[in-house]
Parts: sequence; C-alpha cells; structure tokens
Amino acid sequence: MSVVDIWNRHDTLSFEVFPPKTDVGMADLCGRGGVLEQLYPLLPDNISCTYSVGGTDAGKNLEVLDKVVSDGKTAAMTHFTCAGNTRQSAAAQLRTCLEHGINHVLALRGDLPAGWADTGSDLQCAGDLVALIRQEFGDRFTIAVAGAPEGHPGSRSLETDIDALKRKQDSGADYIITQPCWDMDAFRYWLDAIRAAGIRLPVDVSVMPVLDQAETISAALSRGGFAIPKSLCGILSENWILPNPFTKDTFDADAERKRADFKKAGLEYTVNQIHEYRRCGAGGIHLLTRNRFEDAALIVRESGLLKELKVEN
Ligand code: FAD
Repeated sequence: MSVVDIWNRHDTLSFEVFPPKTDVGMADLCGRGGVLEQLYPLLPDNISCTYSVGGTDAGKNLEVLDKVVSDGKTAAMTHFTCAGNTRQSAAAQLRTCLEHGINHVLALRGDLPAGWADTGSDLQCAGDLVALIRQEFGDRFTIAVAGAPEGHPGSRSLETDIDALKRKQDSGADYIITQPCWDMDAFRYWLDAIRAAGIRLPVDVSVMPVLDQAETISAALSRGGFAIPKSLCGILSENWILPNPFTKDTFDADAERKRADFKKAGLEYTVNQIHEYRRCGAGGIHLLTRNRFEDAALIVRESGLLKELKVEN
C-alpha cells in the first residue's frame, strides 16, 4: 500500500501475529493450511509480526514474514525496535527486510527487558529510528509508529508523550498504530489531543479480543498496562469463575456456562468497541490475533469488517 493509499484509506484491517518459539508453533502458523493461510481470505491490508528486543526471535520473525511475502496475498510488516540495535545493525537488518520484499515497518523503541535502563543503543527512541529509516532508505518503507491513548507508562504526562508522537510524525512516520485501549473516554480524549497538537497521521487502533477472562486480565496487565473500564469489569464479575479464572482446578460447577457467557458478552463488547473507534475517526483496525484464526475470524465477521471491505474492493 502506498503512502497516498494510506492517507486516502479508511476502514482498513491488519492482523498481528507473533513468531512461535517451537517448531510445532511455526508449523501451525506458517505451514500448509496454517493460521496465515486461513487469515488471507479475511482480506487484511497487511499482516505484521512482532519482534523481541535483543533479537532472539528475529530469525523466526523473518521466517514468518517470508511466508507472507511468498504467498503474495497481503503486505508483510515487520515490527522493529531500536532497543538492542545500533544505527548500523538496524540499517543492516532493515536492508535485509527490503531484500526479502518486506517494505512495511512498525518502528518502535521496544519493550526493555528487565534490568535495562535504556535502549543500549545510539538510537534512544522510536523517533530516532524513524529518522534513520528515512535517511537510509528514503521512501522505500511505509512506516507505522506506536501511539499510547492512555499515555506511555514511562512518560511524565500525556502531553510529553504526545510531543514524542509529534516528533515521530515530523521524522517521517506514515501512520500510527495504537496500544489497545478499552477506555473509550480516554481514547476520544487522546484523539482530540493529538489532533490539537498538529498530529494529522491516520490512526489504526489495536484491538485485543475480549473472549476469555484470564487472557483479558493478563492482557490488561501486560503490554504496558491499560485500564479495564467499569463496563468490562461488570462482564468479568458477572461471569467470575471460582476461585478465579486463572486456576485449572476450578470448583465452580457453572464454569463452562460462565466461560461461554463471558465469550458471548466479550465478543459483543469487542464489536461495539470497533464500531465506536470507527465512529471516532480511527482509520483502521489492527487485530491482535495471538496466532488464532477462529477468534480473528469471529471478530472480523461479527463486526462487519469483512463485508465492508468486500464492498470496497
Ligand atoms: P517511543 O516513541 O520511543 O516512546 C518511549 C517513551 O519515551 C515514551 O514515554 C515517550 O513519551 C518517550 N519519548 C520518546 N521520544 C522522546 C524524546 N525525544 N524525548 C523525551 N522522551 C521521549 N515492543 C516490542 O518490544 N516488540 C514488539 O513487537 C512490539 N509491538 C508493538 C505493537 C504495537 C501495535 C504497539 C502499540 C506497541 C508494540 N510494542 C512492541 C511495545 C513498544 O515497544 C513499547 O510500548 C515501548 O515501551 C515504547 O515504544 P514506542 O515505540 O512507543 O517508544
């Protein structure tokens, strides 16, 4: 997708997958009839693959994206972090991406592993990485950057975080993909605030499916942490599995029914949120698939994303 396409687009859909640690996981994702091949008929504009700081899964990340490129059904986007890379190593790896046909990048600082005080790099923040990519590769990459509607946990205030986002725009980013944000008031406030600060980039919203109680709570606590609004707390507590949804040894006779009821209510919640993001002016939906086709398909189908994309095409 060209930059012009990105600016003109609306209602786009992308999927995020992660590089599995095991050969079985890789076969499930990249093998014949695997998750990637199942995702293509949902017509994503791109499929992105995460990348761990330190590059431990960099080889697998490239293997996953090679599969997306060679299948030729959609664009491949690599997540890429400045943490753990120098300017030189970042440029070398990104050149390799181009050689492999990967010309979409989500330029990130990266989640710092425990004990790291900074990026350990001559690239201190995502804005530095964006500037490097433009300097080294001109317009050969389409560059997305991260946005944090609830503010990045490391920033002094929402305003300073928005300043940092503005710098990413000024360095040459093409669009924003947000952290998940279930708090719609926070999302609307942030969207107004970035526009008031002069950030004109299209915004895609990360959607974390709410289909399982334990995963929903874990998701809120990971990825920098995001709030669980009262409405979602209500769905969680109405279907609370005793003693808690994390234990395998539940003594709750109603556990199965509660799981099913939570999934039904969570799906409705997720679909409503997708409609609300789009009403607010989000340009696209970036669905965190957790390498599961069924959940992704359910959400795409129920939210009408597939039908509308087919009409556009
Ligand atoms: P930055 O934009 O560099 O911001 C980091 C912090 O520094 C913020 O507090 C910001 O306000 C501040 N800051 C930035 N620039 C400046 C400046 N010039 N002066 C002062 N302060 C500044 N992480 C991974 O490791 N691997 C992944 O695959 C991955 N995928 C992600 C996918 C999505 C869709 C999103 C939204 C995030 C993802 N992350 C991933 C997480 C991301 O790396 C973390 O949120 C990380 O902590 C910050 O990354 P960033 O790109 O927002 O950093």
